[in-house]
Amino acid sequence: MDIVRDLARIVGDDHVLTDEESLTKYSRDMASFERRPQLVVRPGSVEEISAVMRYCYREGIPVTVWGAGTSLTGAVVTDRVILDVSRLNKIHRIDTVNYYVHVDAGVILEDLNKELMREGFFFPPDPASSFICTVGGAIAEGAGGLRCVKYGTVKDWVLALKVVLPDGSIVKLGEPLAKNRAGYNLTQLFVGSEGTLGVIAEAWLKITPIPDAPVRRLYAHFDSWEEAGNAILDIRRSRIIPRMLEFFDRVGLEAANKLHGTSLEVGEAMLLIDVEEYRGDEAAKVVEILKRNGAKSVRVAASEEEAEMLLQVRATMYLALNLMAPSRLIEDVCVPIDKIVEYLAKIKELSAKYGLVISMNGHAGDGNIHPSILYDAGNPSDVEKVDLVVDELMAYAISLGGTITGEHGVGIQKMRHLVSQLRQHNGEEVLRLMKEIKNVFDPRKVMNPGKYIDIPEELV
Ligand SMILES: Cc1cc2nc3c(=O)[nH]c(=O)nc-3n(C[C@H](O)[C@H](O)[C@H](O)COP(=O)(O)OP(=O)(O)OC[C@H]3O[C@@H](n4cnc5c(N)ncnc54)[C@H](O)[C@@H]3O)c2cc1C
Repeated sequence: MDIVRDLARIVGDDHVLTDEESLTKYSRDMASFERRPQLVVRPGSVEEISAVMRYCYREGIPVTVWGAGTSLTGAVVTDRVILDVSRLNKIHRIDTVNYYVHVDAGVILEDLNKELMREGFFFPPDPASSFICTVGGAIAEGAGGLRCVKYGTVKDWVLALKVVLPDGSIVKLGEPLAKNRAGYNLTQLFVGSEGTLGVIAEAWLKITPIPDAPVRRLYAHFDSWEEAGNAILDIRRSRIIPRMLEFFDRVGLEAANKLHGTSLEVGEAMLLIDVEEYRGDEAAKVVEILKRNGAKSVRVAASEEEAEMLLQVRATMYLALNLMAPSRLIEDVCVPIDKIVEYLAKIKELSAKYGLVISMNGHAGDGNIHPSILYDAGNPSDVEKVDLVVDELMAYAISLGGTITGEHGVGIQKMRHLVSQLRQHNGEEVLRLMKEIKNVFDPRKVMNPGKYIDIPEELV
């Protein structure tokens, strides 16, 4: 078997990459999980994906799908074949009556939204990586984002999928309809499947008109995480659902100033909030709530430029924090929103206990918290402490009824924590069912093996 020659027969010589530069490019995700692939294949159509998968399935060659490689959990790295879907990048149809868009998996999320906006529509889920990540990657990760506090995550917006199964069969799952009750919901099975069940080639996504209501962007500084956390709870009680409710801490704000050369006010905690004003008094009510909870300053972005700058600070927070230590590890728990103050206190406690800086930034309005542990990967004592901190962060989230991942997924980073959560919240039977589902779709284990629910025995 000559795998390079055989795949080149399917996709053409130019689309099988084995050169040093390409293999290096595809060997890391954005959290620095590393594996060097044997080769990269870039099919140009659904039929080519099918032929590549048929071949790899027959030969038992593991395949990992690559969207844009922005994964933060090692889900996208492999030492075998990378299948890059970026050549499938067409928007087929924007349907402004049935409210869906039919789109290829390789389309960049932000490009999709630019096209939709021309028609007065948008696709609300907006991971902070939207400027680079793909539709297929966002579906496979069940991604969240900034607007999800109001509009829900990707799972709430996927109507139907065209999928290539591991053996190369092409199937359509679901329907682009407002309602559809026919059969098991296999579409949702692929949302968050992390490339372990098949290749998502095309998607029919729900879209919605851009609201007419003006949006006010507020930001408020607090002297403590607790006050900011309590303000979030009070906003929830007020029944105003902000379009964005993000939390920043001192370290994050300092990092942003460093990255952008700005002089944003730095405090212990800052909330960044978008409010859609349908009645006209929503922003004023939120300002009052923030002040009541101890905000020492509350401001409304005074111009488009200022509003955009604040959004950029949030969108680039992940990159900014990289400037603050030789290494960093980002976590992604989601707790019941009413437990957010307890969870913030736990982060402070662990930071003091282990003597590590844990910066806290995230989509806190929906209980999704991204503690970032700053450390030095070259220092064995730091590495040991980080493992202990992560274990405690996960265990505490699970004990509060939360989840080990709100949006970033499991990949290779959190398999053992996934087992803990499923065992404690759902039971052994659910873990078994999940493994059987994987087996039904992929009995030869060629799709992204050794990750997610394909948990090695020693971790179970
Ligand atoms: C700066 C930054 C900010 C981020 N912010 C957020 C955020 O706010 N919210 C959030 O949820 N995530 C966030 N992420 C994580 C990540 O960007 C998202 O999960 C994103 O949706 C992944 O898309 P991708 O195209 O890069 O997928 P990749 O990283 O290429 O792949 C991710 C997983 O999906 C699989 N996959 C990719 N494409 C397909 C396909 N077509 N068919 C089947 N499987 C596929 C891969 O095999 C892999 O398992 C962020 C990452 C960075 C670097």
